[in-house]
Amino acid sequence: MEKVFQLGSRSFVLDQDKAEEAFAAKRIINGRRSMAFNLLPLKYPWAYDLYRTMKSNHWEPEDISMQKDVEQWRADNILSDAERWIIRMGIGYFSAAEGIVGDNIIHVIREVVTAPELKLVLGRHAHEENIHADSLLYMISSLGINPHECEAMFEQIDTIRKKNEFVTRTSHSLRRDLDLTLPENKKLIAKNIFVFGQCMEGTQFYGLFGMVLSLYRQNKFPGIGRMFRYTLRDESNHIELLRNLFMDLIGENPEIWTEEFRQELTDTMSEAVNLEKEFIQDCLPMSAVGLSADEFCRYIDFIADRRLEGVGLRPLNPGIDNPLPWLAEMMDIKKEQNFFEGTVTEYQKASALDMVDNDDL
Ligand code: FE
Ligand code: MN
Repeated sequence: MEKVFQLGSRSFVLDQDKAEEAFAAKRIINGRRSMAFNLLPLKYPWAYDLYRTMKSNHWEPEDISMQKDVEQWRADNILSDAERWIIRMGIGYFSAAEGIVGDNIIHVIREVVTAPELKLVLGRHAHEENIHADSLLYMISSLGINPHECEAMFEQIDTIRKKNEFVTRTSHSLRRDLDLTLPENKKLIAKNIFVFGQCMEGTQFYGLFGMVLSLYRQNKFPGIGRMFRYTLRDESNHIELLRNLFMDLIGENPEIWTEEFRQELTDTMSEAVNLEKEFIQDCLPMSAVGLSADEFCRYIDFIADRRLEGVGLRPLNPGIDNPLPWLAEMMDIKKEQNFFEGTVTEYQKASALDMVDNDDL
C-alpha cells in the first residue's frame, strides 16, 4: 500500500509495506543493521518508555551538598572506624564497578543489539554510569581521600578483585566479531546480560547500598546517602532494562532456553551471592552500630531470589523473608516529596513521539 504526499509541484510516495518490513526486521540480535537510527516504528516500546523515565530522573552530583559529610569526616568524635571503613569500601568498590558496567554496556551489549530503540536506552544507561562514576569522584575530592588509595583497593582487596573478575570474565569472549546465529554465542550474550543486570547491578551492588543507607538512616553521611539513593533509583531502571532485554532475547531465541542453560545461570547467581557475602565480611570486619553482617548476607539471599524469579528462574532459598524491610522503604524514592523540585520537572518535557501518529506511517 502506498501513500502519496503532494507538496506543491512535488509528490512523495511512502510505502506502508516497506515500513512493516522494517518493523519485522527489528530484532534484539541479528536484526537489520542500518546506518540510519530508525527509531520508528518502535518494536520495543518498553525501551523507549524506560529511556524517558531515566532521563526524567536526571541528577548531577554537584547539586547535592557534601558539607555535613565533610564535617562528620573531619570531626574525631562522630564516626567510628567501622563507619569510615564502610564509606572507603563503598567509594573504592563503586569507583571500579560503575566504569566496568558502563564499558560493558557500550562495548559489548550496545554493539550486539540491532534495534535502534535498544541502542537509545543503552546509551542513556551508559551515561548514567558516567554520572555515578563522577559522583564518586565528587565524594573522594570532598572528603579529601587520596585517590591512589581508591585505585589500590581494586587490586589489593581480594574480595573486590574477585567480584570484578567475576563480571569481566563474561565480557572478554564477546569483545570481538562473533557469529551470533550460533546458539553457543547467543548463550554467551544472554549470560553477559544476566550477569551484569541481575548478578552485579541487581545483587552485588546491594550489600554496600544497604550499609551506606543504614548509616544515612542514622544521619551519617547525608550527602553520600542521597547520592546513593539516586544511584539506586537509576540502578533499578538498569536492572529492569537488562531484564527486559534478556527476556525478549530468550523469547526470540527460545532454542537456547534449555534446562542446562537455566541451571548454568542459577549456578552463576549462586557464585555471585557467595562473592558478595565474602565482600560483606570485608566491609564489616568489626561490629558497628545497627549493622549486622549476617543480616546483610540474608538480604543478599533475598534480593538474589527476586532477580532469579524476575527472569523466570527458580529461587535459591524459596520463601526467604526480607530481613531489612526498612531498606525497601528507603529505596522507594518515588514517595519522597520535593524531590529535586524544579530541576527534574524541567527535564520532563513532552517527547517528540507524543506528536507522531503511528497510523500515519
Ligand atoms: Fe551505576
Ligand atoms: Mn547501573
